[in-house]
Amino acid sequence: MSTLKVDQVSKLFRSTSRGGGLTAALRKVSFEIPQGEVVTLIGESGSGKSTLGKVILRLIQPTSGTITFDGRPIDKYPQREYYQYVQGVFQDPFSSYNPIYRADRVFELVRGTYFPRMGGAEWEAKVEGALDAVALNPADVLGKYPHQLSGGQQQRLLIARALLLDVKFLVADEIISMLDASTRVDILNLLVKLKKQGLAILFVTHDLSLGNYVSDRTIILRHGAIVEMGATPKVFGNPRHDYTKMLLTAVPELHKKWQHTPLGPVTAAGDAAVTVDSALATDVITAGGNGAVATAVAHATLLDEFSHAEAVVKRDLRAVFSREGRGSAAVSALLAPPSLTEFEPDHLVAEPE
Ligand code: ADP
Ligand code: MG
Repeated sequence: MSTLKVDQVSKLFRSTSRGGGLTAALRKVSFEIPQGEVVTLIGESGSGKSTLGKVILRLIQPTSGTITFDGRPIDKYPQREYYQYVQGVFQDPFSSYNPIYRADRVFELVRGTYFPRMGGAEWEAKVEGALDAVALNPADVLGKYPHQLSGGQQQRLLIARALLLDVKFLVADEIISMLDASTRVDILNLLVKLKKQGLAILFVTHDLSLGNYVSDRTIILRHGAIVEMGATPKVFGNPRHDYTKMLLTAVPELHKKWQHTPLGPVTAAGDAAVTVDSALATDVITAGGNGAVATAVAHATLLDEFSHAEAVVKRDLRAVFSREGRGSAAVSALLAPPSLTEFEPDHLVAEPE
């Protein structure tokens, strides 16, 4: 049984807009997702959700902490093997396609990387199986250009691409937020179906009501730290943390967007930043937003570029933690998450900060 385990994972970015200060995008995040479980990750914009997804997808290196898949640290897997099991789908499906190629090129790239010797008939059957699993009619999508497909079809096609592999874990980062209401429900139902077949899913959303709909467990992320985590009915039915309560009252209706100003991440600008040796701070990954990352994941052949990006990112802050001095104290203070206590079995709640 495959389990993804995130253990004390932190990520610091050097802020681009804050004069080189540090942003704690993740603060000692720990949780586990066993096979067949859907975990919803909820938090406002800037709370660190995508950073967590990208760390799991090995698109960025954590500053500290470890992630294991099936008991093995994920950076110990050859990249090609890892992406066979762990895949991502992102918010803007269109950006995962190269508009000048037909959409099903994303399948061909998988074939080239993972199944170069598979015969034509066998491959076609495999593609049909994957399309069937996501309820797409081959005639509607094969040979079409991305702009000829609806957002829902584009998103299904990307999920089908993941299913061509032996995928066991899917990071679904805001995958329905750009879809219309009825398509959203279709995609959610698809996730529920895949879950029943054993797929584990990290379902990232800023919309609480949708999280409630699909998931077994819910994690509430605030300023990069978990403030509440537990079985979804418990977190939704009996929210303990003020932040969760605030989110619940702020989003009474399905699809309604939040009205209040996002809290943003914990940052240390100015003084705190200069105490840290800036050469040790992580670099920004070369790929930009979700779109570029999604494109890279979709295009398995681009994995080499990410090896390069990873090498750049390796100038991380790990060294800071093994060092005495003002710098490490500043960083430790920045990363300290609120401590979690068990409210009742399977329901952890943070103390107020
Ligand atoms: P969410 O997905 O919850 O909206 P993100 O994980 O994208 O949040 O971002 C969390 C914080 O980390 C934000 O303050 C964001 O600006 C910062 N951040 C994310 N990626 C980078 C990056 N590559 N370089 C610098 N800061 C980043
Ligand atoms: Mg995000």
